[in-house]
Amino acid sequence: MRKPIIGGNWKMNRGIPSEAIAMLEKFIPLVKNINSVDIVVCPPFTVLSAVAKVLENTNIKLGAQNMYFEEKGAYTGEISPGFLKALGCEYIILGHSERRNIFNESDELVNQKLRKALEMDLKPIVAIGEHLEEREAGKTKEKIKQQMNGSFKGLSEENMLNTVIAYEPIWAIGTGKTATTDQAEEIHVFIRELLAEKYNTDIAEAVRIQYGGSMNPRNAEELLNKKNIDGGLVGGASLEADSFAAIIKAAKN
Ligand code: PEP
Repeated sequence: MRKPIIGGNWKMNRGIPSEAIAMLEKFIPLVKNINSVDIVVCPPFTVLSAVAKVLENTNIKLGAQNMYFEEKGAYTGEISPGFLKALGCEYIILGHSERRNIFNESDELVNQKLRKALEMDLKPIVAIGEHLEEREAGKTKEKIKQQMNGSFKGLSEENMLNTVIAYEPIWAIGTGKTATTDQAEEIHVFIRELLAEKYNTDIAEAVRIQYGGSMNPRNAEELLNKKNIDGGLVGGASLEADSFAAIIKAAKN
């Protein structure tokens, strides 16, 4: 049995402490008795410390949206995994398509960050997914395979088990277009096949795979009912307490 995991990726929003705290003060009571779902909130760096305080003694875990793969040094503007751990972060999103596309992060860089995160006992959520042109050209699986080989290169079985994969078709992120449940399920099954080939069926069955791309309270239940969809990485709908809580309730059912 894979425990569902719902992550809220706030991106560059709610980065002022009063805004973040106001959202969470409304959100925490709405999900307070839900222990059958791992709930993760990933706010901007600027509010991690304030959010960590508000989340103390709750069932909600803290995550960050990015990190560098070195512990310290002359890397202006970067944040190390040790800094994040010291603030109480348990999870880290890596390889989000916005990092890959806007900030030119390669599979190689994502892999370096992933290995470092695992070494530091952070729980990575690694995003992969195809562009619209790749889907339309029938190259979705090729792209997924390439990202799986590159981003997850050299991971031991134990490392792979500690990693969450987020399948996020790029054309569905922030666009209001959701992949159909069958489109999403097909790729989740494919990812498990790749894991079985590389490791074994036990690992393939144990790794959690989230769906991400315009998940909202209206489509969450149908997506989360699919056998191979173990949760969601949620952008826009995680910014409001009501919509984020509704998705978590759908994962609980
Ligand atoms: C995301 O940022 O990972 C995401 C899926 O965003 P949205 O839910 O807004 O499409």
